[in-house]
Amino acid sequence: MASLPAADSPAADRSDATGFDTLIINGRIIDPANRRDEIGAVGVTDGSISYVGPVPDQPRSRSRSVIEADGLVVAPGFIDMHSHAQTVNGARLQALDGVTTALELESGALPVADFYRWAEETGRPINYGYSASWSSARMHLLDDAPVISPLTDPGFRLGLSMFSKYQNGRRWRGPADAREQAAILDQLRGQVADGAIGIGVLQGYVPDSTIQEQHRLAELAAEVDQPLFVHSRSMAAVGPGSALDAVAELIDSSERFAAPIHLCHMNSTSGRLADVIAEELATAQQRGVRLTTEAYPYHAGSTVIGAAFIDPDQLGRQGMTPRSVIYLATGERVADERRLRELRATDPGGLCVLETFDLTDPRQLALLLSAVTYPDAAIASDAMPMTYAGPAEEHQAAVSALIEDVWPIPDGMIAHPRSAGCFAQALSWVVRDLGALDLTEVIRRSTIVPATILERAAPALARKGRLSIGADADLTIFDPETVGPGGDYQQLAPSVGFRHVIVGGVAVVSDGELRAEALPGRPIRGSAG
Ligand SMILES: [Zn+2]
Repeated sequence: MASLPAADSPAADRSDATGFDTLIINGRIIDPANRRDEIGAVGVTDGSISYVGPVPDQPRSRSRSVIEADGLVVAPGFIDMHSHAQTVNGARLQALDGVTTALELESGALPVADFYRWAEETGRPINYGYSASWSSARMHLLDDAPVISPLTDPGFRLGLSMFSKYQNGRRWRGPADAREQAAILDQLRGQVADGAIGIGVLQGYVPDSTIQEQHRLAELAAEVDQPLFVHSRSMAAVGPGSALDAVAELIDSSERFAAPIHLCHMNSTSGRLADVIAEELATAQQRGVRLTTEAYPYHAGSTVIGAAFIDPDQLGRQGMTPRSVIYLATGERVADERRLRELRATDPGGLCVLETFDLTDPRQLALLLSAVTYPDAAIASDAMPMTYAGPAEEHQAAVSALIEDVWPIPDGMIAHPRSAGCFAQALSWVVRDLGALDLTEVIRRSTIVPATILERAAPALARKGRLSIGADADLTIFDPETVGPGGDYQQLAPSVGFRHVIVGGVAVVSDGELRAEALPGRPIRGSAG
């Protein structure tokens, strides 16, 4: 795709021309891609950025809509590479967190064509896209799990559905022989041809898959020139088989096959080895290995309680105990090993929170920050599907409301707070409270960094993450003094401080309020789709 003209080229000067569809004035424009940080105006015409510069000298009435942004930051819309919250309501919560594009790349979808069609038919407030799901292909081919389309089965519309439902399958976590590997690869190749953005590889949930299979995946990634988005094999702090070994395996396979590999949530999988892993990654990147990464700024992770790495025998190797696990359906902190084994057997797909770091220990905070501040790590939320934790008699009604995307979200819904507040948490905790990154850097890691990681695999991203003339008019306008998370681990709630969120020129959030009828989100597909 041809590069876009710079924002201050003559084409940018619309000040004498007719008005704009939307004109945003007097805001602090922060556009790291174009090294812009100044008070001015942004004009939007036909869904694209048509002006960036000084506030134009023309009557306000000439533009259809004028947003007064005094005291607010005007930034490109945030691009979230890692969102499992792929429902209308999941996307609405993310829009209220400044996100204009949310992609499900780590776990992925199967079949991607049906997920794209379902999202197009029902509409989305923000842009969306999927990778091909390696774990689902394994569940299907090794455990005969049926591939269920969201078009026909409402039970498969809540994100991670297939993953949760077939979690305790007999064979999918184990090794596959050469013939089975070939079948898995064929299925994934077909998904990429259908428009998947790369391949989601939940290796940490399939710890007994072989290194040979990882090599075949890397070969395929190089062949189709699409990344692997990997949850690495191990979180253990001690070796052999430590988190460092897991990253070394990815570096090696990337280097061996010249395969693009994106290491998901460096913060949660690096654990107590985060500083060592940061060094290892930096050395590999200096050699030109095609590795990228991301992080979210929380001390705790979230996943299904049946995950391989929550096995009581594994937790200790990661510096955790059963009490590090909070089971979301009841809100209980798991008392002991016996209770943990019971929950893993009875509800393996149930969601939980896993406390990776103890923030009262300065050494552990430093480890978390070594991942969050790692050079060019994108901020990516790992937003989770919601689960219901209210009174049992209201369970069915709440779940139906979720499936039907009733807004506002019913009471009693819970999810890791990153699902609604990751970007607000970065702007408040990392920038204002800790001063670990500055405002511009957090915006950069939320916009042009993910766009650059992805634009070769998904060319639509070359028009996002920047306020260049002709770029898509995805914009996030927020108050840098008050922006922050609205909820926490006990209560799911939208972020505060995001005043206006615009997707393809259409306001999804206006004066801090979600416009529930606005569904301007567009599909983002891989380069083969
Ligand atoms: Zn993950």
